[in-house]
Amino acid sequence: MIDIKTGLLIWSLEAASLSAMLLGLWIFVRRSPTLLFWCIGSGLHGLGLAGVAMRGYLPDFISIQVANTSATFGIGLLLAGVLSLDSRPVSFTIFIPAFIWTGGMLFPEIRETLYARIALYHTAAVIGHGLTGMALLQRGGLLSKTRSGLAAMFFLQATLSVTMIVIVLLYKPPTFADIPYAPPLAGVAALCVVGMLVFGTRLMMIDNEDRLKRLAATDPLTGLLNRRGFENAFDALNATSIPGRPLVALAHLDLDHFKRINDAYGHHAGDSVLVTFARIMDAVMAGRGVVGRLGGEEFACALRVSSAADAVEVTSRIREALRHTPIPVSGTDIIVSACAGIALAPKGTTLFSLLDGSDRALYAAKRAGRDRIGLDCEDGVAIVSLEDEAAIGDSTDRQVAALHHMGLIGRGG
Ligand code: GH3
Ligand code: MG
Ligand code: MG
Repeated sequence: MIDIKTGLLIWSLEAASLSAMLLGLWIFVRRSPTLLFWCIGSGLHGLGLAGVAMRGYLPDFISIQVANTSATFGIGLLLAGVLSLDSRPVSFTIFIPAFIWTGGMLFPEIRETLYARIALYHTAAVIGHGLTGMALLQRGGLLSKTRSGLAAMFFLQATLSVTMIVIVLLYKPPTFADIPYAPPLAGVAALCVVGMLVFGTRLMMIDNEDRLKRLAATDPLTGLLNRRGFENAFDALNATSIPGRPLVALAHLDLDHFKRINDAYGHHAGDSVLVTFARIMDAVMAGRGVVGRLGGEEFACALRVSSAADAVEVTSRIREALRHTPIPVSGTDIIVSACAGIALAPKGTTLFSLLDGSDRALYAAKRAGRDRIGLDCEDGVAIVSLEDEAAIGDSTDRQVAALHHMGLIGRGG
């Protein structure tokens, strides 16, 4: 039967191999903070365990104080990896295991007694692994099997540590060799590390796939959804039932005379106009519906509405914000306008048919002199005048009057 020191060495080699593999992934695959935290955390944990195993060959200060501080700090870094994986702030909680160890060692009764030190180390480990398991489960929505599996591994490690605390407090072993049940506990702990490796690698792969999917759906210049991303988000918006908003509206927006901006101030200036417009659209929509860049200087937003007036009002607010935002380019401020084409259909329609209508409306708005909204209706396109836009964004009575004026609703409608 292997003794506990050999067991600790095997465990530390396992942690060191895991650390080396994570370092390779960090260098060659992806420079993510999670991989780095896990790499250093696993390395420090392994180094600490090796230091404890080398007791007698190393000065006591190193094999007790330094080694256990390293191991407990390593446990905290595993928590840091999970927090950064979920884009949560890496707070002081990651230092808790190391604090517990170093704080406990200030008491001579603990410092001078082997079993008390083992209990102290495992208390730090219970807290560290427990916090990491909880952090993994704290993500909203449905938990994946991989995430739950990894959390289970951390809780199992915490349970093994609790068991170890109970054993050493009951038996008060004077040396490592006297700790009962140590080999089976170490065996389960080693299996746990293998489990962490399997689930941890899978979790990183899933995270990587999600990141690539997000990248593939994002426009790199503006950060908005690109056409592909917009199509997917539209499908989700189109499929949901929203009480009081039975219609899906698509507003197709196109900057006016954008080519002139490029020609006069350069492509870079054109880019900053695109970025500013994207921010405006995002801010006005404020999470209501979907915003995307369809290509070039063409943007779109899709939203659920109760009426055409609702869609015109939101689109009008976007145009209004653009018109009131001087955009600094090449040392001067310019004002840019945009046209919009709006099409509406009951929920369940296709993006293709809405794009067809909104394109027609956009084209009509451009032909009517630019800086305005075209609304695709059954009997053609209604051009919304600036006054009508202002009225629609105003009180209900004026909205109705404006819609009468545009011929969008019959008398008494
Ligand atoms: P209109 O009012 O009829 O919409 O005229 P326009 O000049 O806005 O439209 P046009 O289609 O003639 O020109 C669009 C220009 O947009 C041409 C193209 O060079 C430019 N463009 C497309 N993508 C980008 C981009 O990513 N950055 C910059 N700076 N320009 C772009
Ligand atoms: Mg244009
Ligand atoms: Mg265009």
